[in-house]
Amino acid sequence: MTLHRIPYNKPYVTGNELGYIEAAINAGHLSGNGAFTKKCQNWLEETSGCRRAFLVHSGTAALELGALLLNIQPGDEVIMPSFTFVTTATAVVLRGATPIFVDIRPDTLNIDETAIENAITSRTRAIIPVHYAGIGCDMETIRAIADNHQLSVLEDAAHAICADHNGKPLGSFGNMAALSFHETKNLTCGEGGALLINDESLIERAEVLMEKGTDRTRFILGLTDKYTWRDIGSSFFCSEIEASFLWAQMEGAADLTERRLNNWQFYHDALETLEDLGCIRRPVVPASSKHNGHLYYILLQDETTRNRLLDHLNKLGINAVFHYIPLHSAPAGQKFGKVSGSIDVTNEVSSRLLRLPLWVGLTYEQQQEVLSATFEFFGQTQSNVSASNAAKLEVERAR
Ligand SMILES: *Cc1c(COP(=O)(O)O)cnc(C)c1O
Repeated sequence: MTLHRIPYNKPYVTGNELGYIEAAINAGHLSGNGAFTKKCQNWLEETSGCRRAFLVHSGTAALELGALLLNIQPGDEVIMPSFTFVTTATAVVLRGATPIFVDIRPDTLNIDETAIENAITSRTRAIIPVHYAGIGCDMETIRAIADNHQLSVLEDAAHAICADHNGKPLGSFGNMAALSFHETKNLTCGEGGALLINDESLIERAEVLMEKGTDRTRFILGLTDKYTWRDIGSSFFCSEIEASFLWAQMEGAADLTERRLNNWQFYHDALETLEDLGCIRRPVVPASSKHNGHLYYILLQDETTRNRLLDHLNKLGINAVFHYIPLHSAPAGQKFGKVSGSIDVTNEVSSRLLRLPLWVGLTYEQQQEVLSATFEFFGQTQSNVSASNAAKLEVERAR
């Protein structure tokens, strides 16, 4: 591991995290489902409009809880993109079901909604759309297909907190949605996640599954005089230590999102020149999308160029990275999953994609360095810093 002067991610702390952890310690409640957990869940319910939010210990746990609630069984099929993080698929594979991988759209790199219908069989139970980079999938079409075929929709909204699609928060379209608070995500508590439930009929069972299969939640509310084992379940809550940390991030969410978007736009404006020259393709944000600056990627002409640019940047101490190795091409993906239809866009995009460093606190000066190195790679000089970027740099230098 080399140390990079400019890492690709750096978790941001608002400054209130330690104080809230101390408050959790003083309250004498460190396990899950305490006062901070409730604050976080309320915030998620208010900002997403979901019926109920459950704070869990990872985005992966949220997906697994979602798969349990959907009663996914061995032999069932679940449609998802291959271009995603591995646990979108493992959540389903753990239930003995088969992930059915479909291609992505070349513009947003989100699941190609026109490929979904062809992938549906009598065994299909659910669709898991992934809102890549906080840019929403075509949820209206996906919802209509799901309703037509009586399928459930579990949004993988791990990238998508504080992002909207057609004026509605991502996470509010599916029967459920999974969020992640891993340190690489927009809001973090180190490891954490949430399951947002929009489908009222799933709430009561979620309370039981969250509480290790018992009706402890009803007991605490005084709705039953003793609590007992009722169903399957597991330990899903995160601790109050994580929830208190996360609360500080939620209080700062608007500011964190704005700062991320500023960094995102700085790259986007400056890189227009390279796109015009045909060297790269920049992210496409449809008019339906109010994204959250989760990540900034560029697409290179081919894999060789992508790998050479990765090398060039990393040698200069700039930690550019790539993702995802398509799940259908991985050993376990071949064993547990199946491809439906053409998967060409997925294969092609994953070999050409490069992520630039992006985190809250990244300075415009540092971004300028990333940009200069990228321009230099293409034999271009950065004489053409856009007017808005030049103004931002000016402000930063004056600080
Ligand atoms: C991060 C991520 C997850 C998993 O979240 P964890 O909190 O790391 O378990 C799932 N899906 C996607 C698309 C992600 O980016």
